[in-house]
Amino acid sequence: MFSKKFSMDFHNILVNCYLQNKRDLPWRNTVNPYLIWLSEIMLQQTRVAQGMPYFFAFTKEFPTVFDLANASEEQVLKLWQGLGYYSRARNLHKTAQYVANELNGVFPPNYKELLQLKGVGEYTAAAIASFSYNEAVPVVDGNVFRVLSRYFGIESDITLPATKKEFTALAYELMPKDNPAIFNQAIMEFGALQCVPKSPNCSICVFNDSCVALQKKKVDVLPVKSKKLKVTNRFFNYLILEDALGNTLIQKRTAKGIWHNLYEFPLLETDRIVDFDFVSNAVQNDIFPSYSILSIEECSEATVIHKLSHQHLHIQFWRVKIKEIIENGLITSNLKTFPFPIAIYNFIEKQELNC
Ligand code: SF4
Repeated sequence: MFSKKFSMDFHNILVNCYLQNKRDLPWRNTVNPYLIWLSEIMLQQTRVAQGMPYFFAFTKEFPTVFDLANASEEQVLKLWQGLGYYSRARNLHKTAQYVANELNGVFPPNYKELLQLKGVGEYTAAAIASFSYNEAVPVVDGNVFRVLSRYFGIESDITLPATKKEFTALAYELMPKDNPAIFNQAIMEFGALQCVPKSPNCSICVFNDSCVALQKKKVDVLPVKSKKLKVTNRFFNYLILEDALGNTLIQKRTAKGIWHNLYEFPLLETDRIVDFDFVSNAVQNDIFPSYSILSIEECSEATVIHKLSHQHLHIQFWRVKIKEIIENGLITSNLKTFPFPIAIYNFIEKQELNC
């Protein structure tokens, strides 16, 4: 339990630092919950510089929650293309429909009710509630974990749910209850700009006379994060079919898992990197047994390792020419109108389907 003076001092220093150094971000100049929600969903697992163009594109295309609700999922995925974690886009769309159709376009008015929305977790609900409604709920994201664990020298493992509670309670105690929005903004910005993950410049930090991690030389080891992410390697072979008319074939990924509802070329997934003989055999005997295969060629320059948070995708592209005409084949110039995972979209754009 801190004295009122300590909390006040901490808050004042933090907020002064924020007011002097803050970035001018478009979602900071509004209390509109739709815009704040949009920005928070976009910025999850995404750097500000990467998310910003998407924020502008979405707010231009869908200025209100009704516009977003009325769009097709394909339109939303297309606009989201390249931002990754596509379940966020699908949840975004469903939530927009729920808010527009069931709540007459009005976002739930407090933290507890915001939490009921699909795709809105504790962090996003706290951000909307505090920024839009000035409700006193602390945001606790990676930045906040880092700042508090270092400043107070807390060595609890931040992957544990109990630690989240501990940090939430601590942030709540430090937060001025009459102006939670600026406190939340300030602590997040401090973590993003000053108390950065690697080698923060503590010599210029406003807290360097009282920071426990600095005094104890523990800046590099805090916050403690025990669980290492287990990364799975997957091996994708995309088959770029080309018929006598130059048309090709794509399919929608309907199964749960990565890239749900995005498009891709026919896929041969293997348990390792495979060679021409393996692909050729699988294509002729298992995947396209009814087609007469004229040639198979690896687009070796397009091979890529696409890293997701839990999976590394080793992607190879193979051009497969066939004699027949593909039923419902797609003209290649129309490919780019479909939403693709960025690894495939880049292939289409760079290679223009030429190996
Ligand atoms: S002194 Fe260094 S570790 Fe401590 S709060 Fe400042 S930047 Fe972070």
